[in-house]
Amino acid sequence: MSANAQMVAKYKNNFLKEVQEQVEMGEWVKMCMQCGVCSGSCPTNFHPGWEHPPQEIFMMIRAGKREEVLTSPSMWMCTSCYNCIVRCPRKLPITHIMHGLANYAHRLGMAPKMQPTRHFAKLFWNNCVKTGRVNELKLSMGLYFKDGFGQGIKNGMAMKDVALGLLKAKRLNPFEMLGGHKCKDQNGIHAMLKKARELEEKRKAIKAAA
Ligand code: SF4
Ligand code: SF4
Repeated sequence: MSANAQMVAKYKNNFLKEVQEQVEMGEWVKMCMQCGVCSGSCPTNFHPGWEHPPQEIFMMIRAGKREEVLTSPSMWMCTSCYNCIVRCPRKLPITHIMHGLANYAHRLGMAPKMQPTRHFAKLFWNNCVKTGRVNELKLSMGLYFKDGFGQGIKNGMAMKDVALGLLKAKRLNPFEMLGGHKCKDQNGIHAMLKKARELEEKRKAIKAAA
């Protein structure tokens, strides 16, 4: 592919339309007036993982920077603190858009593979939907041992004081978690999620046809 063709592939003129149709609350992006209040209010935007704060992401969407937006780790850094939503003068649902973009990038297979917060999101989701309750012990083990057994032991030892504190305060019960740590109606949870997926597909089809 020539350099020019590669440049064109990175940009997509109608990326804003794609976001409006495919991303949860994506129809709000066009309302952003680039005041920067959201980026200034974000408590995690000083972290190196925040390549582009929300204001910049919204500007890049309008500029058609499809690849740069969807491969960015930025959306995976959002902690859902809702500071930005509270302060946005245009009342944009920024948190939802950021998570919607992350989800869309994941569905397209464009999300950054090595992003630790993405890894956590996947572990958390799989852990939670299986039984309807988060099993903190299995979740922590999954995270600590993601880079191998040796590293897992080191990670566990580094957190031992926290674990002992939780045990003392009766906030951690390994025996309960190893046993039946689940909600009463697991089938009901799975049916609800299935219905939510169906509704989401319908919503996207209606938006695309509009
Ligand atoms: S605070 Fe709202 S209007 Fe201002 S840049 Fe952020 S999203 Fe846009
Ligand atoms: S909700 Fe996310 S994007 Fe908004 S201020 Fe909090 S961390 Fe930043």
